[in-house]
Amino acid sequence: MINNIQLNKSNFDELSKSCVIKNGTIIDPHNEKEYLSDIKIINGIISEINESITTGPDDLIIDAKGKYISPGFMDMHVHLREPGYEQAETLITGSNAAMSGGFTRLALMPNTTPCVDNIFVYNDICRRTENLLVNIHQIPAVTVGREGKSLVEMAELNDNGALAFSDDGDGIQSSEAMKGALQYSGMFNVPILVHEEDKTFLDGVMNESFVSTELGMSGIPNIAESSMIARDIEISRYVDGYPHFQHISTQESVKLIREAKKEGLKVSSEVTPHHFSLTDEKVKTFSTDYKMNPPLRTQEDVDEILKGLQDGTIDVIASDHAPHTPEKKNVEFDYAPFGVLGLETLFSVGVTYLVNTNVLSLVEYLKKITINPRKILNLDYDLINVGKMAELTIFDISSEWKVDRRKLLSKSLNTCYHDETLDGQVQVVINNSKIYKR
Ligand SMILES: [Zn+2]
Repeated sequence: MINNIQLNKSNFDELSKSCVIKNGTIIDPHNEKEYLSDIKIINGIISEINESITTGPDDLIIDAKGKYISPGFMDMHVHLREPGYEQAETLITGSNAAMSGGFTRLALMPNTTPCVDNIFVYNDICRRTENLLVNIHQIPAVTVGREGKSLVEMAELNDNGALAFSDDGDGIQSSEAMKGALQYSGMFNVPILVHEEDKTFLDGVMNESFVSTELGMSGIPNIAESSMIARDIEISRYVDGYPHFQHISTQESVKLIREAKKEGLKVSSEVTPHHFSLTDEKVKTFSTDYKMNPPLRTQEDVDEILKGLQDGTIDVIASDHAPHTPEKKNVEFDYAPFGVLGLETLFSVGVTYLVNTNVLSLVEYLKKITINPRKILNLDYDLINVGKMAELTIFDISSEWKVDRRKLLSKSLNTCYHDETLDGQVQVVINNSKIYKR
């Protein structure tokens, strides 16, 4: 059964001409400040930030007492499946899921059908996502057809607003193609977002470990990822390019990126919530909701990832939201596609597994889902200021909720947190003169 819940219209609306957020605590990760204040928004623009703003009869008043007001969250690694696989997700259902998860901005991966490797498909997606609450940045492919051979028309796409390039879904196997991509994108000062995976290792369906041996499943070794990261650090040093390492999952990857940063190389990295909160032990359930690429690794890998989040080796937390229909997922583990939902649980998984366990402070955590992805993609990140478009997320850190896959706004059901109680919940999202209220 496909989850067809539509967003309740009453939850999502145009923002009134004049609106005041009362009694909230502003948390500003850029200036590392936290203070009680009201915010007045007129025609979608922040017009006043003050301790006590008087309201008029025509103002929409949002009571944020006991809640935090943060810059809108950004997820720089999302698959919304349109065009080509709309049974699993569409630009609209995916944007609704993003809103519900607190996001005002997404970067979409290009592995659709057709692939976003040319200006026509790129412009079409930009046009179809123009008037949403959530700003959509389509990331084009690095190589034509994501085949790892010839580069796309990077200059033309960059002229039309492309913030980065990615062949996500596959690693770029050819060192020569990667060298060209890093060299060329470096000329526009944009990163190559890299899914690191050496395909010449035997195809696996889960992490190569004691668990895979025990279950008799084929494994994907850590070095399939880390050896490619090592290669691309070498290439970027040679050509002065900028690789951003997507969804890193192994302890070796964290160590390599830590050393590259110490050396002063321009590199950055991201991790998904499932890679810091779960291990390959989960695969013992045989649930295909735990099948993703890169796969869930071991506790030692998770421990090093947590260290990497603390010391700044890992800049960003991104969902790798990858919806699949139940028809595709409800098969034997070996045959199911890789991928898991993430937009609606990311924030709360981070609160539960990072903030409430004292791995990160709230402000350090928010940096990784607000300003750091914007910095990497050269977007404005100093958002809580008079005169700026109100792009805000209001959340309650003390509330908890139980994940019910049937209640998610995504069109698909493949979350790996179903039935789990998570801390922290998004209440209100404001962007582009629109408002979403839970
Ligand atoms: Zn990927």
